[in-house]
Amino acid sequence: MKALVFENGCAVLPERVLEDARVTCAQGRIVSVERAGKRRPPADAEVVDARGGYISPGFIDIHVHGGGGADFMDGTVEAVRAACGAHRAHGTTTLFPTTTTGSPEQIRAMLDACVEARRSWKSPADGALIAGVHLYGPYFAEDKVGCHSEEGRRSPSAAEYEGYFASGVVRIATCAAELPGAVEFYRAARKARCLVTCGHSNASWTEMAEAFRAGMRHVDHFWCAMSTVPSVRARFGVPMQGSMLEFVLGHPEMSTEIIADGCHLAPELLEFAWRMKGAGRLCLVTDCNRAMDLPPGDYRFGPADDGSWFESDGEVGWAPGRTSLASSIRGMDHMVRHMRRVTRAPVEEIIRMASLTPAERTGIARGTGSLEAGKRADLVVLSRALEVRRVFVGGRESD
Ligand SMILES: [Zn+2]
Repeated sequence: MKALVFENGCAVLPERVLEDARVTCAQGRIVSVERAGKRRPPADAEVVDARGGYISPGFIDIHVHGGGGADFMDGTVEAVRAACGAHRAHGTTTLFPTTTTGSPEQIRAMLDACVEARRSWKSPADGALIAGVHLYGPYFAEDKVGCHSEEGRRSPSAAEYEGYFASGVVRIATCAAELPGAVEFYRAARKARCLVTCGHSNASWTEMAEAFRAGMRHVDHFWCAMSTVPSVRARFGVPMQGSMLEFVLGHPEMSTEIIADGCHLAPELLEFAWRMKGAGRLCLVTDCNRAMDLPPGDYRFGPADDGSWFESDGEVGWAPGRTSLASSIRGMDHMVRHMRRVTRAPVEEIIRMASLTPAERTGIARGTGSLEAGKRADLVVLSRALEVRRVFVGGRESD
């Protein structure tokens, strides 16, 4: 089989940018990453000219609801493929379809559709690869449901979630730490080898500490739908207690994620999160809904038949009345460019937060997430302005 060689660009490695790089792939895997120098690639190799841009690992998204008109909660293989395809065009080569709140039947249908889409994946035309599902809704705190439908929210019950874990496809599992049964949920999720996360929660430091002992190591979209000292004081009075925010900042083992679309968080918060947690514990996520790549208008968040309505203004999703946001409508390439524009994080750290760090946190870093010999040839060629030029999944490009 002939080699696939990327040249005439800078390879983005986890710790640095390698100028004048050559990335050689064969049989869907990365074989070597080196300086090109004066040596020519093998005569029969297929050469990908990066035209002076970046040769980057493909992006990995651990929190994504949909795109291109489809929400993963639509619960059909066609919808899953449509969303995976839309995100591939934005540089994402691996993602974790993310549930919203919804009925057990709706969540089951979503899991089944993801399992089937993964099983029948044939080529990059089918979109980004599914590494597993993020079981995100329905176990949210009542006062932190955000833009999700309230009827679909509930406390965890083993009879329900054991069925989801038994599917084998759930790799990330969220629950609000203050809910009855949360600790048992975290233990079951850890046993199912998930990245265990707390989100849509008004948890105190004490509740987070108990969750941590049960295996919780991550918090969904930092600053969004999570507790602060004043919100915990509203529950418990004085003395004021620590919140999720202090717990994440105070524990080096904890990771979190940011929605860097420019609408959810101001530049100083993006800069602060990166400086406080470092690129090894901070993931860029899209938290993208179905409105990505679609014109402004009203759409449903979650299932097509009964998801809650939101409005896309072409920049971001808004809850009805425009009093709060309803997730992003951007792909990972946008997040990467925005971080570059408004923070001092170097490009290799920004890319790491969109590739290797999410891979490490979800246990898939042996197979993907960085330009390293032996890993799957998931690559994105970016311009100097970080615009996506070409996307390769397992060494193959979709045209
Ligand atoms: Zn979300």
